[in-house]
Amino acid sequence: MALFKSLDNLEDDKSSKSVSSDVEKVKCLIIGSGPAGYTAAIYAARANLNPVMYEGLEPGGQLTTTTEVENYPGYPEGVTGPVMMEDFKKQAQRFGTDVRFGIATAADLSKRPFKVTIDSTKIIEAEALIIATGATAKYLGLDSEEKFKGQGVSACATCDGFFYKGKDVAVVGGGDTAAEEATYLAGICNKVYLIVRKDYMRASKVMIDRVHKTKNIEVLYEHQTKEIVGDMSGVNGVILTNSKGEEVKKDIHGFFVAIGHKPNSDIFKEYLDTDEVGYIKTKPDTTKTKIDGVFACGDVMDSHYRQAVTAAGTGCRAAIDAERFLGSL
Ligand code: NDP
Repeated sequence: MALFKSLDNLEDDKSSKSVSSDVEKVKCLIIGSGPAGYTAAIYAARANLNPVMYEGLEPGGQLTTTTEVENYPGYPEGVTGPVMMEDFKKQAQRFGTDVRFGIATAADLSKRPFKVTIDSTKIIEAEALIIATGATAKYLGLDSEEKFKGQGVSACATCDGFFYKGKDVAVVGGGDTAAEEATYLAGICNKVYLIVRKDYMRASKVMIDRVHKTKNIEVLYEHQTKEIVGDMSGVNGVILTNSKGEEVKKDIHGFFVAIGHKPNSDIFKEYLDTDEVGYIKTKPDTTKTKIDGVFACGDVMDSHYRQAVTAAGTGCRAAIDAERFLGSL
């Protein structure tokens, strides 16, 4: 699900009468409300930057689609994704962050103050902008996949793999993420089926070798997922079709989708450097983008780690970078 409208809408938004009549100036604007955005907000608020945050289409970010989070330090008993994000929000608000519901629909970063259009109707003019819009995991688009999201269907093995300890699971995808997730799950689960739609994997050779050498991974080349099946207690199987069009059923309890992510950077791409997938490039060891005063943190700039705790870390850095930038004006 794309969180932000394309740049094509920018001109429409700018020319809209209601836009020009509704402009608000802020010191520090944060777009996105996952662990990166909220951590940036906590630090920015405590540094008296009076941050305004727009939550985006998925308030709380990707973690709100997971169930239990067991790998975030400080929660020894685990916590559900939605509860954890509510805690993040309360902490950001406690220090004065103005958290608002709204979606960034366009941006003009050509000069300061930076202009971000919210819901195509309101313009926020910001002296410093922190982009924490995250990335959206791609899904296959099956109804059954939607039905069992959070109940056996996941897009993050590191987050949810542990719940399938000793069980059989499937991973779909043929890239490095799928290979990595399959290998990770093989260390926890009884058996891992890796469902690859072509007769080869596009992952790097070293990852493919690792997959093939792992005894409890079975690669099902030229297989497509037809349906994920289950009952009230969650997923209990997957129906695949092979290259001959025959149906193959596998009994599994976890179905991991690893077919790529889409960083939510569309509205900023005209102004910022991104890689070929769309991840925003930042200067080494900082959250600074190529534009002074614009910072990026979390999954929109990190294709590698993609964890809540690493996103939170970059959010902290973005707020510190923004504070120093504003202090230098
Ligand atoms: P990729 O885009 O590289 O791979 C996506 C995979 O999913 C492809 O095999 C693709 O199949 C498959 N796929 C896409 N849509 C479907 C579908 N509808 N049904 C079935 N299969 C589908 O994404 P990744 O997330 O794997 O990697 C993204 C980038 O991050 C890459 O550059 C990768 O190298 C990098 N990365 C690096 C890692 C590392 O170095 N440790 C770890 C993880 C990622 P097909 O091949 O047929 O198109």
